[in-house]
Amino acid sequence: MELKIELNSNKKQKPQPGQKLGFGKIFTDHMFIMDWDKGLGWHDTKIVPYGPIEMYPTATCLHYGQEVFEGLKAYRTPNGEVTLFRPEENFKRMNASCDRLCIPNFDEEFLLEALKELVKLEADWIPNDEGASLYIRPFIFGVEEALGVHPSSKYKFVIILSPSGAYYDSGLDPVKIYVETKYVRAVQGGTGAAKTGGNYASSLKAQDEAEKEGYSQVLWLDGVHRKYIEEVGAMNVFFVLGDEIVTPKLQGSILPGITRKSAVEMLKSWGMNVSERLLSVDELVDAYKNGNLKEAFGTGTAAVISPIGELKYDGLVMNINNGEIGPISQKLYDNLTGIQFGKLEDPFGWTVVVK
Ligand SMILES: *Cc1c(COP(=O)(O)O)cnc(C)c1O
Repeated sequence: MELKIELNSNKKQKPQPGQKLGFGKIFTDHMFIMDWDKGLGWHDTKIVPYGPIEMYPTATCLHYGQEVFEGLKAYRTPNGEVTLFRPEENFKRMNASCDRLCIPNFDEEFLLEALKELVKLEADWIPNDEGASLYIRPFIFGVEEALGVHPSSKYKFVIILSPSGAYYDSGLDPVKIYVETKYVRAVQGGTGAAKTGGNYASSLKAQDEAEKEGYSQVLWLDGVHRKYIEEVGAMNVFFVLGDEIVTPKLQGSILPGITRKSAVEMLKSWGMNVSERLLSVDELVDAYKNGNLKEAFGTGTAAVISPIGELKYDGLVMNINNGEIGPISQKLYDNLTGIQFGKLEDPFGWTVVVK
C-alpha cells in the first residue's frame, strides 16, 4: 500500500520546555487516516493535516458503538533516538479487538511502517522534559450511512499524536482504589478483552461514584460470582502476597495489557515467583488480615506502574505498605521506564527504533 503525505502548511506552536502538558490535551500537526469500504478493503492511506473528520449523522459508530482503539507512546532517548515500546503488540491486540467488534482486520506490518512515518514527521513534538512522551492513539470506527443494526460497510482508521507530560509530577504517588460491588465491567463472552469505547462508557458511572468517595479508580470483580479480582479502570492489577506476585489470569473478560505482559516477563527474568491465576477478594482480605498483603499496583501504558496505597472493600479500608510504594513496584517502574526511555539496556528486544 502506498502512503500519501499532505504536509500541513499551517503549523501550530509546539509546547515550550517545562510547560505543563497534562494528558491528551494537545495534538500535533498531522494525523494518519485510511478508509475501508466493502469490495475495496483498506485504501486511501495517507498522512494529512490534523483536523475535523467529516461524517454523516447516521455513521454507525455514533449509534451502536462499533469502535476500537489503542494507546502507546513514542520516547526520546538520551542519545536523541526516537523509539516505540512493543508497538507490534498494540497492532496485534487491535486486530483482536477488531475481530470481536466485527471490524475488518488490517495489515499490522504496514500500520507499523505508517506509524513510524507519522512519528518521524512529528518527532519535534516529542517533549524533552523528564518522563514526558508522545502519546499515540490509533482508533477505528464504523461510518456507514445506515441505521440498521449490522456491522458497518465503511470504516475509518485514524492515528493522532499528543505530547503528554510525566504521569507523576513528584515521584510515584500511591492511589486509593475502591473495590466495586454494585456495578460490573465485563463478563466472559462479552467485550472485556477488547479495547473498545463501550467498555469505558459503561464504567463511567462506577468511576464517578468512586471519585465522589475520594477514590481515584475502581477495582472490578468478575461479573458472575462478584468474587474474583479482574482489573482496575484502565490498568491491570498485581498483588504481592507473601513471596508470590499474583495477577488475575486472562479469561476473556480482562484487557490483556502489554505493560502487564512486560511486567510478568520481567519479574520471571528476575527469578521471581509470579502467578497468573484466579484471586478472590476473600483471599486478598485474608492476606491483608494476616499481614501478607505486601504491595499492590496497577500496570498500564499511561502510568506504567501505579502503586495502590489503599483499597476499600465492603466497608473495610485496607492500608497497603503504609500508603507507600513497595520495593517490587519501584523496581518494576525503574526498569520498565528505564528501557522505555532508553536509559537502560533492553535485554528483551522490546524497543523499536523509529529514527
Ligand atoms: C489499555 C488498558 C489496559 C492497559 O493496557 P496496556 O497495554 O498495558 O496499556 C488495562 N485495562 C484496560 C481496560 C485498558 O483499556
